[in-house]
Amino acid sequence: MSAPSHADQPLLIVIDGPAGAGKTTIARRLARHLGLPLLDTGAIYRSLALTARRRGVAWDDEAGLVALADALPIRFGGLGSLAEPDAPHDVPQRDVPQRVWLGDDDVTEAIRTPEISEGASRVSALPGVRKALLGLQRALGARGCVAEGRDMGTVVFPHAPHKFFVTADLQARAARRQADLVPSEPGAMGQGPSLSAVQAELHLRDARDSGRAAAPLVRAEDAVLIDTTSLSPEGVLDLMLEALGLGYGRGDRG
Ligand code: C5P
Repeated sequence: MSAPSHADQPLLIVIDGPAGAGKTTIARRLARHLGLPLLDTGAIYRSLALTARRRGVAWDDEAGLVALADALPIRFGGLGSLAEPDAPHDVPQRDVPQRVWLGDDDVTEAIRTPEISEGASRVSALPGVRKALLGLQRALGARGCVAEGRDMGTVVFPHAPHKFFVTADLQARAARRQADLVPSEPGAMGQGPSLSAVQAELHLRDARDSGRAAAPLVRAEDAVLIDTTSLSPEGVLDLMLEALGLGYGRGDRG
């Protein structure tokens, strides 16, 4: 299947929404379905929070964070990096997490801990940090992609021709997030956090994302709203393809 074209413009589809609404899963599936790379902008804020932690820069030290953001050596599997603008774009693989590197360091797992989630939420509330990362996000998405985050349709790519805002009720989002956090290795020791702990953490992040002055989490006026509370990823993909004018009858849905 070919993706909808817009007069030879690179195809850009943006997906915004709160944590746990299913953005990452659906963005990966949509990208795979359309043969586009994926731009996970949450991973950029997470990578900045991780770098700050490792370098001893506090999560509220705006000037220190901006200096790190200006030189963030981030690279995404499938999307290449600014240092390799001609690297081939790969589409995401079926249900395989996108690898994220900082220089030669694979930080894919290290950026997903609850501690770094909290750090990403904090650093992303600082206007200077958001400004410093704007050019990076635009450059990474310039050749077309499915971009997911909080402010894709409002700030980073306000002219994107296709915008979605996905949400779900807090309980459903907490249950999904908790399932992601439970150790999945057979024989793994320890337990993930309780549902109520995850719910409280999401609630706090929601309040911070929605309440901040710089690029708060809001639905762009022209974004298609999808409530994923009682939908499977396949159901969400169906709705998105319909909204994109690609309707039913597609082949691979992975
Ligand atoms: O999407 P994810 O949970 O990985 O994002 C981590 C944090 O980064 C979010 O809690 C949010 O505060 C922030 N973020 C943001 N703007 C984006 C993407 C993520 O503020 N475009």
